[in-house]
Amino acid sequence: MTDRIYFDNAATTPLDPRVWEGMRPHLPQPWGNPSSMHREGREALAAVEAARRQVAELLGAEPGEIVFTSSGTEADNLALQGVLFAAGLRDCHAISSAIEHPAVLACCRHLQRLGVALTLLPVDSQGLVDPADLERALRPETRLVSIMAANNVTGVVQSVEELARISRRHGALFHSDAVQAFGKIPLDVRRVPLDLVSLSAHKLYGPKGVGALYVRRGVSLTPLVHGGGQEEGRRSGTENVAGIVALGAAAELARAEMAAEAARLVQIRDRLIDAIIAMVPNAYLIGDRYCRLPGHICLGLSGMECEAIKLLLELDGLGFAVSSGSACSSHHAGQPSHVLEAMGFDAPRARGSVRITLGRFNTQQEAERFLELFPRAVASLRPLGSLARAG
Ligand code: PLP
Repeated sequence: MTDRIYFDNAATTPLDPRVWEGMRPHLPQPWGNPSSMHREGREALAAVEAARRQVAELLGAEPGEIVFTSSGTEADNLALQGVLFAAGLRDCHAISSAIEHPAVLACCRHLQRLGVALTLLPVDSQGLVDPADLERALRPETRLVSIMAANNVTGVVQSVEELARISRRHGALFHSDAVQAFGKIPLDVRRVPLDLVSLSAHKLYGPKGVGALYVRRGVSLTPLVHGGGQEEGRRSGTENVAGIVALGAAAELARAEMAAEAARLVQIRDRLIDAIIAMVPNAYLIGDRYCRLPGHICLGLSGMECEAIKLLLELDGLGFAVSSGSACSSHHAGQPSHVLEAMGFDAPRARGSVRITLGRFNTQQEAERFLELFPRAVASLRPLGSLARAG
């Protein structure tokens, strides 16, 4: 596998060996239950609390404002259902956007069936929510606004600061799904009035199956999972100690390395975008060029939308892991992306994107290797006679 080049860091990231070193001592069984009073239990509890401080620090939060969950999906569900159940569901209005991850959108639909009035904001052709649309959609009974920090398909970063300020001014809580953004771009709850923030370890070089929700002190939340009262009653269930320790270690590394890593990835990303557009005549960038995650590229290939899956398989054969749209898309192969449709793409074009997402372990040399082979892979799929500059 070492000759493989992994450009699908938005789907999941490899475990950082330093994160593995942090979680390893917590894996052997038997190991203490953080709820136990003996030494083993107290040690496990201390490890969980240290991780809580590390995650809190990256967000500028208090440790007590972090609730560990089993995933980003659970964090999103806890935020939306937790706030709206606490508000009584009926007579509540919630606002989200048309481009959210299914963890938010499906949860919104569920809440709608339970009686919550829902508005989904549109996005423009660059994938951005217009703050004026939010301003217009807010009502006196709006309890919650949920807009993602960065999109998993396009990598487009929303101006959550402005959106959160508008929501606060209208008395609505603001949640942001920051699963793609956490540890990649700065998010500071002391400066920005974010009330709830979802995150997930496996997008930040940690393991799968552990996430967290930031809940600003004072926000009322009805738990999704009832039981032994762990996480101050907000999420019952014996803690995934090793996973939580890993998430803490991942957050600590991101805090130390985020600025330098982002600058490095932006360079490689922009080199890839410019070179691909110069070499492959029908390639175009999807989503705002500048409001985007440092390592995230989403490409369209006009006239070849139906060939996107073939192209991914061709690249896979050449040793590159890239994706179409999102990790979920393998469950919905051939279906248009709801994100691209919301950006105004027609169904054929909304089916045919290629997502290249760079991460901590990618290098400039890997990008150059990709640039050697990508135009050829595209050309190999084109009908004869339509080849232009692809070399
Ligand atoms: N939200 C976004 C924006 C995501 O990209 C993902 C995963 O792809 C999730 C939520 C779900 O996170 P998890 O895989 O931890 O359930």
